Amino acid sequence: MGATPPADNVLTDRLLRSWLRCRRRAWLDRHGDPALRQWTAHRNLMLDDQQRCFVALLPQKPGRGEAACAVGADGVVGLRFKGKGPGGEALEAHPPLLRRVSGRSRWGDFAYQPVLARQGRRMTREHQLPLALMALLLEQEQQAPVTEMLVVGGGGRRLERDRVGLSAGLRKQLVDALRKLRLDLQREEPPDLAADRRKCTLCSWRQVCNGVAASDGHLSEVSGIGAKRREMLQELNIRGLADLAAADPEQLATAMQRFGEQHGDVARTLVAQARCQRSGQPERLSSRPALPELIAAPGVLLYDIESDPDARHDFLHGFWCLPRGSDGRWDLAAARYQPLLVLAEHGEPRCWQRIARYVSRYDDWPVLHYGETESLALLRMAQRQGISEQQQAPLRRRLVDVHARIRQHWRLPLNSYGLKAVASWRGFQWGQSGVDGAHALLWWRHWQGEGPERRGSSHALRWIFQYNRDDCRATWAVADWLRHQDQAGGS
Ligand code: SF4
Repeated sequence: MGATPPADNVLTDRLLRSWLRCRRRAWLDRHGDPALRQWTAHRNLMLDDQQRCFVALLPQKPGRGEAACAVGADGVVGLRFKGKGPGGEALEAHPPLLRRVSGRSRWGDFAYQPVLARQGRRMTREHQLPLALMALLLEQEQQAPVTEMLVVGGGGRRLERDRVGLSAGLRKQLVDALRKLRLDLQREEPPDLAADRRKCTLCSWRQVCNGVAASDGHLSEVSGIGAKRREMLQELNIRGLADLAAADPEQLATAMQRFGEQHGDVARTLVAQARCQRSGQPERLSSRPALPELIAAPGVLLYDIESDPDARHDFLHGFWCLPRGSDGRWDLAAARYQPLLVLAEHGEPRCWQRIARYVSRYDDWPVLHYGETESLALLRMAQRQGISEQQQAPLRRRLVDVHARIRQHWRLPLNSYGLKAVASWRGFQWGQSGVDGAHALLWWRHWQGEGPERRGSSHALRWIFQYNRDDCRATWAVADWLRHQDQAGGS
């Protein structure tokens, strides 16, 4: 039950969960250098969600350890089970919560079931199999079968329950997964990088793996290549960025058409992208200016939203107001940041009014944002507030998606066209290093506390504002580069 790490040959629920996400991750968890791990806000968000779900499920504080099981507490935390798997392998599991259910165990006329909290909208194998491992060891511990397990979700806002039967099929899947996990952990070298590198953004090993991907010229390093395209290219013997850059675009297009017409067109773009990344030189795709709206604008509003995706709540609309001096220069010293919080207790109508009033103060200024999230969110809010299409039209005309303009007008020597990658390439530095949207969400939750009467530390709110303001400034760094290129008329 203590915090002693499991012995080297032991398979744990945590390793199994890592392995289900990415085989390499489980290997690194066991054999990687812990000093190279990077903290991610994702795990803290997960624990925060879990805590909220458990409080919604069991309003009474759970008991701790085996003593709580012995007295039949409704909920029990803090247990670590050790036992043997069907193949004789040493197993350990640390169920985040046990819930009392009817049955008969060695502790009395009741039994327990393991409970897990999920993030996201659906239950997956990543929940079911670790839960099954917990159940297997709980059966040995309580000397009674576990027939049903529980996955809870909804982050405590609304309690969602998924009941999972410990069926023969699930037990078999668990045995299979444990066997494969053991074999992977015995390898001398780590398994390949995840096929879908989007998973890496949430992973604490991402810095290590990004380094490997870059130095190996991994195909996933080419912007536009996900798991599926990578598989197709590998089938065509294109193994890495260098192979792709060296490929003949027309031949590759013909070869890729066998996977579907659309892949032929994509092939040319991928070769061009790989070449661009090899050369390190941006390439202009259009002779038209990328941001004509800036030519005569008296100023711009840079706009960025922070959201809680699970709650479907855009909690902060941040604007960085950048005026232009009478000499036509952008007056960075006069720029002002304006955060507008959307609090449930204020209601959306009042939030909309504040946003609309602020934006209308700068009537003929373009509103620049990076990606479609901001324009979609703002226009949807306008719709919900009963603003007619006709009234929305002027706002719609002012919204300019800088990301879309980059994609239309430029090919960049980068593996991602996200704001972080593009603005960093332009030399922009965020005030807080290593911070992302998940951090901002975590700070938001800390600040929200338990409602208007019991807010958390105001530092958290300051950090969110700083992060949001920096995202606005980063958007300007990219727009400013586009503007310069428009003026220069070339790369
Ligand atoms: S960073 Fe990506 S490839 Fe590396 S272990 Fe994590 S998920 Fe797997």
